[in-house]
Amino acid sequence: MDPAAVAAVAALAAAALLLAVGLQRRGPSGLSAERARAGTDAAQATARAAEAEARAAAWVQDVGVLVDLVGIGVIRVTDDLTVISANETAARLLARRAAGLPGRSVMEVSTDHRLEEIVRGALQTGAAAGELTIRTTEAPTLLVRARRLSSGDAWLVLEDVTELRRLQRIRTEFIDNLAHELRTPLTTVSLLAETLALEAGNLPPRTADRIAKIEVETGHLVQMVNELLDLSKIESGSAALLLSDVDLARLADATVERLSLFAERNGVRMVVEADGAIPLVRGDGERLGQALLNLLHNAVKFSPAGGEVVIRVRADEHEVVVTVQDHGPGIPRAALTRVFERFYKGDRARTRGVGGTGLGLSIARHVVEAHGGRIWVDSEEGSGSIFGFAVPLAGPDLAATPGA
Ligand code: ADP
Repeated sequence: MDPAAVAAVAALAAAALLLAVGLQRRGPSGLSAERARAGTDAAQATARAAEAEARAAAWVQDVGVLVDLVGIGVIRVTDDLTVISANETAARLLARRAAGLPGRSVMEVSTDHRLEEIVRGALQTGAAAGELTIRTTEAPTLLVRARRLSSGDAWLVLEDVTELRRLQRIRTEFIDNLAHELRTPLTTVSLLAETLALEAGNLPPRTADRIAKIEVETGHLVQMVNELLDLSKIESGSAALLLSDVDLARLADATVERLSLFAERNGVRMVVEADGAIPLVRGDGERLGQALLNLLHNAVKFSPAGGEVVIRVRADEHEVVVTVQDHGPGIPRAALTRVFERFYKGDRARTRGVGGTGLGLSIARHVVEAHGGRIWVDSEEGSGSIFGFAVPLAGPDLAATPGA
């Protein structure tokens, strides 16, 4: 479901649960105190209060039905990790009875220790999210989002994402199989086109030109298939990270070296600025090099002739940050959130028809996230772009990296 819709339903559910708790707490003694104070108007006040309570109770029931209909679980916990209240759906998702949840600790309500980690994370930092697997025959996957409140308690919202994750797995496997099937014939066609191009000296210019085009286009296809295979390997976690101590400043120099011919051909200058001594990060040097190469390749590709691309490397006590700045066409605001999606390609007219597969940034994002890092872009149309990523010094949390 759309996260905004989940948030809206969760907010309604939270309000309903709060009201339900409030209604239970007030009970008949609250009403009689009101009656005593109201003197001669007691009867009227009682009637009004009863009406308001009846309306509120009906609303609570309505919202409860809505939330259960949408299938969102809502739980409220205290700062010592005790459940105060939970709706029917939360109990069903956790394979428990609703009446059995209040009063129990978070550790008791789920066998998956990640629930406790998410709640502790939210209590410490304000918000946290993660996924759990419930140990039943269906083994459902639950997405849990937790948010701390000013009172010190926290709300948890639970959503069943089993089907979504299954479909994502099928999509990845499908693309993977297709790419594997395509790779061998495409590589053969590409090699044949290359050979033909070498032998095209005696052919009429138009034929030679067509052969050259076949060579270029099959080259693109081979590159796309190889990138797809890389991406699905990284996404599925089957490409375990080969960890070592990586010097990102040296990696920046090496990447500049790898792209020097390409940059020269495009008339673009590349500069590396390292801010002091850069500490080593624990990571996969080859994969991080690939992520940086993709960012730098784009920066050069989109730069005007005579332009300059600056790679900056700096560190604090937690992470090393690498940014790549260019003075190319920039990225329209509406595209900023989409550029890291697989197959996203910008408007050809705006980018002067520069070709690409739309996979480079998606690969970079997966590599950086597999290291427990983050990646971002700052750009304004017409003012160039700054792509950046940060990698924690400590390296990836291997327990959280699938297949690693
Ligand atoms: P591509 O192979 O198309 O470059 P990417 O995933 O690397 O695929 O980039 C996706 C899209 O993001 C590009 O098509 C382009 O529109 C935009 N983009 C990426 N880097 C830059 C940049 N430095 N300047 C302007 N646009 C960029």
